[in-house]
Amino acid sequence: MTNEAQKTKIAVIGAGAVGSTVAYATLIKGLAGELALFDIATDLVKAQAEDLNHGAQFAPATVINGSDDPAVTADADIVVMTAGARQKPGQSRLDLAGVNINITKSVLGKVREVAPNAIYILVTNPCDIITYAATKFLELPKGRVFGSGTVLDSARLRYLISKKLNVAMTNVHAIMAGEHGDSEIPLWSVANIGGQALADYALDGKSIPASEYDAIRKEVAEGAYRVIQGKGATNYAIGLATAEILEALLRDENRILPVSSVLDGAYGLSDVALSVPSLVNRQGVGEVLELPISDEDRAGLQKSAETLKANAKSLGL
Ligand code: NAD
Repeated sequence: MTNEAQKTKIAVIGAGAVGSTVAYATLIKGLAGELALFDIATDLVKAQAEDLNHGAQFAPATVINGSDDPAVTADADIVVMTAGARQKPGQSRLDLAGVNINITKSVLGKVREVAPNAIYILVTNPCDIITYAATKFLELPKGRVFGSGTVLDSARLRYLISKKLNVAMTNVHAIMAGEHGDSEIPLWSVANIGGQALADYALDGKSIPASEYDAIRKEVAEGAYRVIQGKGATNYAIGLATAEILEALLRDENRILPVSSVLDGAYGLSDVALSVPSLVNRQGVGEVLELPISDEDRAGLQKSAETLKANAKSLGL
């Protein structure tokens, strides 16, 4: 672990399936000298911290504390919010909005008092609505509040494309944008494989015709439903995706990631939080990358934004 990482404190709010896996992935990657878990479920949060501590000798040196007192998050550099209700089989992310907005406000209100200088990453669903609400009430400088957005969904898309084309995932440059949820869309017009436009790609007899795009979009968007149906929650992929975002932040990488933030004119969209490729570095989320997307992709993004705006309005945000 670097000296810088050793001085870093990451607080994870919520020690359930997602929070504990974020902590586990963070521990293995050696991203922080101190990990603090906070949850109202006293026994659970203590047990998760103890279990992680029992494994800590096999990972880069990390101090792990778990408590039902938000004071455990004091002076955190980064706060990852995962507390809240999760989807039940068949339930959409937007169905969780009301209850999770209240939980987010009550918890982050207390955490902000003890960790005023932190960067806040929202993972709790519906991720974009929670990001929009938290950006408003936390009143922190621009860039210090954002959501994990479609980093996970983009990984699901890249996985599917790489399987179909039998090519390494790292060569698949494809982005899911918009809502982290049912209205999300792949930016097909800028998808490329190793530098070649997806539409023109044909190697080893493998290509993806545009006629398959809708089915792929659906398979990505329904990924969480399938996993939840089978095991009750999604945790490994979101744990790793969040650790990737944390790494980009803490190592000041200037990585371009599809995280969710309140837009201010990019892609013609304002006053809505959703995911578009954005610069992530030690300051948090920075400028948005405006890609030359097709009219069709732009219309899909617009539609996703409208879904989110209507939802935010109906919730009185
Ligand atoms: P979980 O039920 O396993 O854990 C949630 C935890 O939050 C529980 O331990 C609970 O005690 C805690 N909690 C509830 N209210 C609290 C409060 N007021 N203060 C502190 N802690 C509180 O659920 P999970 O599977 O870990 O999912 C957590 C959230 O993450 C859900 O909203 C889920 O939909 C979301 N999620 C997001 C993504 C993403 O890509 N953004 C992916 C997976 C899950």
